[in-house]
Amino acid sequence: MEYKPTIGLEIHAELNTKSKMFCSCKNDPNEKRPNFNICEVCTAQPGTLPVANEEAIKKVIKTGLALNCKILKESKFDRKNYFYPDIPKGYQISQYDKPLCENGHLVVNSKKVGITRIHLEEDTGSSIHPDGADYSLVNYNRAGVALMELVTEPDISSGQEAKSFAEELQLIFRYLGVSDADMEKGLMRVEVNISVSKTKKFGTKVEIKNLNSFKVVQKAIDFEIERQIKLLESGQSVVQETRGWHDKKEETFSQREKESAHDYRYFPEPDLPPMSFSEDYIEKIKSEILELPSEKRGRFKNEYGLDEKSTEVFVVQKYFSEYFEKVASEVDEWIDQKDDKEIKGAIKLASNYLISDVLGILGGKEFKEENFKVTPENFAEFIKMIHQREISSKVAKMLLVEMINTGGDPSAIVEENNWKQIEDSGELEKVIQEVINKNPKPVQDYKSGNKNAIQFLFGKVMAQTRGTANPQKVRELLENMLK
Ligand code: ADP
Ligand code: ZN
Ligand code: MG
Repeated sequence: MEYKPTIGLEIHAELNTKSKMFCSCKNDPNEKRPNFNICEVCTAQPGTLPVANEEAIKKVIKTGLALNCKILKESKFDRKNYFYPDIPKGYQISQYDKPLCENGHLVVNSKKVGITRIHLEEDTGSSIHPDGADYSLVNYNRAGVALMELVTEPDISSGQEAKSFAEELQLIFRYLGVSDADMEKGLMRVEVNISVSKTKKFGTKVEIKNLNSFKVVQKAIDFEIERQIKLLESGQSVVQETRGWHDKKEETFSQREKESAHDYRYFPEPDLPPMSFSEDYIEKIKSEILELPSEKRGRFKNEYGLDEKSTEVFVVQKYFSEYFEKVASEVDEWIDQKDDKEIKGAIKLASNYLISDVLGILGGKEFKEENFKVTPENFAEFIKMIHQREISSKVAKMLLVEMINTGGDPSAIVEENNWKQIEDSGELEKVIQEVINKNPKPVQDYKSGNKNAIQFLFGKVMAQTRGTANPQKVRELLENMLK
């Protein structure tokens, strides 16, 4: 019988509130000056008292609602006691037995993963260990920043599933506007718990911390599954412990044996009153939830007829999808006969140009206003010119580059450069005749049966017209004239 892996995740996300969780210090993950955003409260000076940040509480409730959780009407904060230099009070204000949210779930790629709880706590400061020094430094800018912790049920069964789940959560946090959730910046942190077993009974679990990308989450899980199976197969047992991930060696390593809840001496936080929420309060937060990624996926398919792959490219980039929708609404306006097939065709054209050409030109840079100055109106106008065959696809590529560089209006640029597609047969025949006269050899080749020679002449005509000739027409005319 095969070993079955069991995986549960613990995910932390720093909330993007203006101020910290229990004081009015600025929450700025980009602050480079150490110990700049600190005060008496978040450095735990004697006699100071915490005041809870309501915005943070609302953001956690909002997340819970989006993830189908039950919101507890009565909730409270607790002290989690442990000593560490980056935690100035000697305890962390967290939540123990009455978290804000419980019992939710999220479906990712048709796999349903239970969400045990989501609670609110404060982040720690950060310790810095200068290379070779016999001392450490500590920066309290992050101390006291509102931190949300989400714990899943052990419902996940592979590294790939864990990665997809974490990615979808990140997307949801961003759609909800509760956290920027950047893994590289440590704004979102994923810890994984893994065990393997041949029976229904779960095996001993190992926790892996400090995974700084989704890819590493997957790799670390896959490695750990193999490690545990090997141990068990050779008659050894898995030790319950916390492990880290070695980036270069691509393996997990033992850090410490895991502490359990009683080590933390949890007790209710006496300096903060318990919280209670009315039905209205929760309903109001619910009404502020806009469209979630899964809903957008469905809508993009139905409304615009986009395939799954294109839809996904838009859904994972919120601003990009909003831009696309603005363009699509313009398309609706110029196709006045409301021919659904025609409209979907033009929208598909817009989506293709955005995904292949625009993203290609941006070359990995994020699609956002600073990087792409073309207005949706101008972009729709550009698509219209292609769709109505006013410009050739070759000109379209040049035009797009020009629009991105100058932010200019497409019709003005086409006018300036004389890029309008030449449709006029008389005009095209003139150019073709010239090319035929100047190139007797290929003409002869063509006539004596080398059909490929026409390609050379075609290229000459297109070059002579700087790509503005209607290629379809050129081919027809050229064939006729050679006859
Ligand atoms: P602890 O008390 O050690 O923190 P919890 O019961 O709170 O353990 O679970 C922490 C995380 O580990 C949760 O995401 C949970 O789903 C997961 N988990 C629990 N038991 C197992 C197991 N045997 N194998 C893998 N993951 C597990
Ligand atoms: Zn402070
Ligand atoms: Mg736990």
